[in-house]
Amino acid sequence: MATPPIGHRTKDFRKLFCGVRKKLQKIFRTQNEIFIIPSSATGAMEAAIRNCVDKKVLCLVNGAFGKRWADIARLCEKDVETVEVEWGKAIKPAIVERKLRHNKFEAICLVHVETSTGVMNPLNEIAAVVKKSGALFLVDAVSSLGAIRVEVDKLYIDVCFTASQKGLALPPGIAIISVSERALNKSRSVKSKGFYFNFELLLERAKNDEPLTTPSTSHIFALNKQLEKIEKEKMINREKRHYQLSKLCRSLGKSKGLEIFSEKGFEAPTLTCFKNTLNLNTNALLKFLDSRGFTISGGYGPLKGKTIRIGHMGDYKLKDIKLLFDAFDEFLKGL
Ligand SMILES: *Cc1c(COP(=O)(O)O)cnc(C)c1O
Repeated sequence: MATPPIGHRTKDFRKLFCGVRKKLQKIFRTQNEIFIIPSSATGAMEAAIRNCVDKKVLCLVNGAFGKRWADIARLCEKDVETVEVEWGKAIKPAIVERKLRHNKFEAICLVHVETSTGVMNPLNEIAAVVKKSGALFLVDAVSSLGAIRVEVDKLYIDVCFTASQKGLALPPGIAIISVSERALNKSRSVKSKGFYFNFELLLERAKNDEPLTTPSTSHIFALNKQLEKIEKEKMINREKRHYQLSKLCRSLGKSKGLEIFSEKGFEAPTLTCFKNTLNLNTNALLKFLDSRGFTISGGYGPLKGKTIRIGHMGDYKLKDIKLLFDAFDEFLKGL
């Protein structure tokens, strides 16, 4: 990121931009077009709705980010229906199938890893149900992609996105979005797409390896470097490391008397969400851990104080989790 910025309409930048998008296609496991947009992940959620939905959309909701996506669709004045599942539980394919039996939607929105509850929804199984319905499949892979495999082409995911600050372990500031031919075609017929996230306009520029508007060049340099590092680690090892991190985190938490909040069998490999079974003052815990150099979360939104979330996506090592729980021990001893 410290590389001095270069003009975004220069040949050097086009070369960098082209290379980065090619590397991203490998991470997304897709031949689809990749757009890099100057927003956080929420911008990509909005982009997916504004480009791929004229009227009817189905949002699958089992946590704060699924809810946010439905809220965005409503604010964009779409006709929104939801399938809602209790927070902490996973969305099962059967409930989606039932909804689709008597209803038709232009697009279906799914959050792969629901970061607010630590649940990983069964993406492959839901993808099969969506495919049968013929609807566009829009997937928020913010807390999975870049950490674990997400098979965009194999699962026929029409729009898939992440942001720099989660699985890719970069500073926040850009979102990355893959868009299928089907989604691009749909966007051509959708009105009121605005300018900033307009797929047609983004595509026109992308064909020439250019961004639509001025990008954060610092992020593109950093992304290029990080993608080289991921290639060196290999996605398969990166994924394995995340499964090891979550397994260790769960077992250390359990050994201290914490229970897992997320439904059994659907625990995310990228973060662990515990029930606050020890009735800890989560604010005091967070403050203590911060003094030891660790940042965790005391529960998202309505789960504040009720859960403890430990994010371990990106470049963390097993040792980091061990050191975190050493500090946790120190906190418990001081009570
Ligand atoms: C963090 C997150 C978002 C939103 O991210 P911002 O970058 O803050 O806009 C969306 N979806 C999921 C699953 C997330 O974890």
